[in-house]
Order: sequence, then C-alpha cells, then structure tokens
Amino acid sequence: SAREPGGERVAIVGAGLAGCLLAVLLGRRGVPVTVYERRPDPRIAGAERGRSINLAISARGLAALEQVGLRDHALKQALPMHGRMVHPARGAQNFQPYSADGERAINSISRGELNRALLEAADGTPGVTLRFSQRVAGVDVDAGMVLLEGANPEPADVVLAGDGAYSAVRRSLHLDEDADFLAHGYKELTIPPRDGGFALDPDALHIWPRGTSMMIALPNLDRSFTCTLFWDKDDFAALDTPEKVTARFEDEYPDVAGLIPDLADDFAHNPVGSLVTVRCWPWTRYGDGAVVALLGDAAHAIVPFFGQGANCAFEDCIEIDRCLTETGGDWARALSLYQERRKANTDAIAEMALDNFVEMRDRVSSRVYRAKQAATHALERRLAGRYVSRYELVSFSTVPYAEIPARIRRQNRVLGLAVAGAAGALGLAGLLRRRRS
Ligand code: FAD
Repeated sequence: SAREPGGERVAIVGAGLAGCLLAVLLGRRGVPVTVYERRPDPRIAGAERGRSINLAISARGLAALEQVGLRDHALKQALPMHGRMVHPARGAQNFQPYSADGERAINSISRGELNRALLEAADGTPGVTLRFSQRVAGVDVDAGMVLLEGANPEPADVVLAGDGAYSAVRRSLHLDEDADFLAHGYKELTIPPRDGGFALDPDALHIWPRGTSMMIALPNLDRSFTCTLFWDKDDFAALDTPEKVTARFEDEYPDVAGLIPDLADDFAHNPVGSLVTVRCWPWTRYGDGAVVALLGDAAHAIVPFFGQGANCAFEDCIEIDRCLTETGGDWARALSLYQERRKANTDAIAEMALDNFVEMRDRVSSRVYRAKQAATHALERRLAGRYVSRYELVSFSTVPYAEIPARIRRQNRVLGLAVAGAAGALGLAGLLRRRRS
C-alpha cells in the first residue's frame, strides 16, 4: 500500500485462539487493529458447542502465552497430565509417563476459558477493536477491502486471517490448496464426576486404543472428563439405536460404559466432527490495495493427535511479531519472511500428527512398544540432552518442528552404530577369549 509504514489499517479475521493472541501482540506494538469475529461475544453469549471442549497446551503454547503475560493464568485453569493411561480391551490399565523424568506434563485446559482469557487480554489492549457477529466473506486484495456478510465492505491495508480450518478468506484467495479428510470423524461425550470426585485418574490423558479406532479422555476442572471417540464415520452412523450404542460400549470400553449415564442420548445428539489436514501455498497474497496472510488453522489445519494445532497457531503469532520487529514494521517483508520460516515447520507437525494417530490407536497397546518406550526413557536419562524422544521434542521443547524428524533419524543412527559397535566389541572380546583358551 502507499501508506507510510505504521499507518496501515490492519484487520484480523477470527477472534479464535490465534486471532486474539495476535491482536494482543500487535496492539502492544502500537499497531491499531480491528478484529472481525462471526460469533457473538462468548463472554456474553456463552461458549459455542462444537469443536473440542478441552485441549492440551504444552511448551510451545505456554511460551507464547508467556509473552503476553497469560502463562500462569492459563496454568491455573489447567490440569497437568504427566502421561498416558492406556486402557487395553482386556487386562489392567497401564500408565506411560510422557518424559524420562516423569515430571513433565501437558496441560488439559478448557478451550472456552482459554479463548475468553485471550479475548479479555485483547479487549484490554489499547488500539484493539473487537467486532462480534461480523462474518467475513472474503478479501478483495486489489480494492483493499474486507468483505462482510450483510454489511458494507470495510477498507484494510493488511488482513491477517485466523478464521480457522474452513477459512473464508483462504477460499476467497483461490490459493493452491488441498484439504485432506480422514475417513475417521470424532464425537465428544462426557464422563461426569463420580461421588464428587474424578471417575478416572485426573493426572493422565486416557486412551482406549482399539487398532483402527480409539477413544481418549481429558480431565476438566469441574472433575468431569471429556471423552472423544475417533471412529470411522460409517461406524457412527451404524449405531442408530440406544441398544446398539450401549452394546458397543460394553464390548469395547467396558470400564467406562457405566460411567457415562447419558451415553445413548449424548451419542445420538452430539455431532460428528471432521478431521482435516489443510495444505496450501502461498499463505500470503499481495494485491494493489492490500496484503493478506493466513495463520493458524486457516493456513495449516492439522489432525489433533499430537495436541499441537493450537500450540502451532500460537507459534505463528509469535513469528509474525518477530518478523515485524526484524523488518522495522515493513508488513510486506515481514509477512513473506513469516511464511518462509513457518511452512516447513507446519508441514513437519502435520505429518507427525498423522503418524501419531497410528501410534495412539494401535502401537501404544503393544508390549513391544512399552518396552521400547521404557528403553527410550532410560537412554534419555543416560544421555541427557543428547538423546531426546520425539514426543519430548514436540511437546516439551520449542525446537522448530522441521528439525525434529532429522534429529530423530540422527539419534537413531548414532544409537544403531553404538549398538553395532558394542556388539562388535563383544564379538571381538568373545574371539579374544576363545583365542586365549
Ligand atoms: P480457531 O480456533 O478455529 O478460530 C477461528 C475463529 O475464527 C473462530 O473464533 C471462528 O468463529 C472465527 N471465524 C471463522 N470463520 C469466520 C468468518 N468467516 N468471519 C469471521 N470470523 C470467523 N490443538 C492443541 O494444541 N491441543 C489439543 O489438544 C487440540 N485438540 C484438538 C481436538 C480436536 C477434536 C480438534 C478438532 C482440534 C484440536 N486442536 C488441538 C487444534 C486446535 O483446536 C486448533 O489448531 C486451534 O483452535 C487453531 O486456532 P485458530 O485460531 O487458528 O482457529
């Protein structure tokens, strides 16, 4: 745009997790911003029922929240989960710690509470204007206009689209994009408190791995658990009577079937959500009137099996802020730097998230997996800092996602050589012993 740097009219689309955090960061830089959100103000209207009730926030998300002074607030609203509690189809449940020292935890937090805290922070930041019940239809980059449904277009020089996986802004740009849907969908159910307490251990993320499908449960502050079924979509449709629902639960999840009093009713009424990986490029569009950039799920929705979508969206916001600092507030350069730096990282976590679905629904239940995990943790303790598991690098570090697969390969290669070396040395020792005797 022809405006002086610093004089741009900046719009954010979506007051979700990423949109709100970015509004706070920009407001604090002294950049006035208008945020358009299609929903009414959730602080007045109450949270919308729909996508996940709670989510796991880990190191990356906490590091981002720390930048705006919300880390401690978020942790106070969260329940730490130090490992997985695996519930096999038969036999006793077993606990698998997430970290070698057993100390590190991911944090179960209410999506609604986290979004409200971020909205409050945005609302309290000078220069941030929140516009609720304003659905954006797209952006006209040449006219420099945000197109609103049921209202006149409004001018903007910079548009930052944090409007989620099904982003209207992304669609209006006709980018090169691919939305990859899993055959699985998800449905949420609630395990209420039992006798005033948690019905399951609250210090774990519970998993019922069943080969090609699974159920998980995360604890909530009110001592309930939110369960999420990840099933083939046809399987949801096939359970069309209360009897079928109850029978399947008693068969597949016998230890919880009795803990969900409204099982058949919740099953019938709660929606089935889709699981999508969105890949698109570029994330920016430069027109005569405006520059647009996508962030968060709008740029790179991923499946939820590593609990990283929101963590990753928060990292985008921090990167945009950093690029603005590095370019002295030059939006065009900052946004192109931002997309260059983030793309490989979001591609990497998208792949790792897909891979983790197989790990969670299938591998965690095997004895071999458990033995391997115990060996990995033992190695991590012996080789502190030099051998770090993929889970730890993703969840308990801020090492760029893109560096993780190569680092894991390198660690495994060194380990393979060490094992071969040890075996070789043993072989040589054996030979020497035989020679001497
Ligand atoms: P969103 O949170 O989707 O926010 C988008 C906002 O834009 C919303 O407020 C929406 O109302 C608004 N909007 C949409 N369209 C328009 C429009 N046209 N005009 C105006 N406003 C609009 N991530 C984790 O880190 N940990 C987890 O444990 C985890 N679990 C998950 C479990 C499930 C079942 C799912 C589906 C996702 C999970 N995620 C998790 C991913 C996480 O929810 C997303 O990555 C995160 O919400 C992305 O934030 P966002 O701000 O980009 O998008």
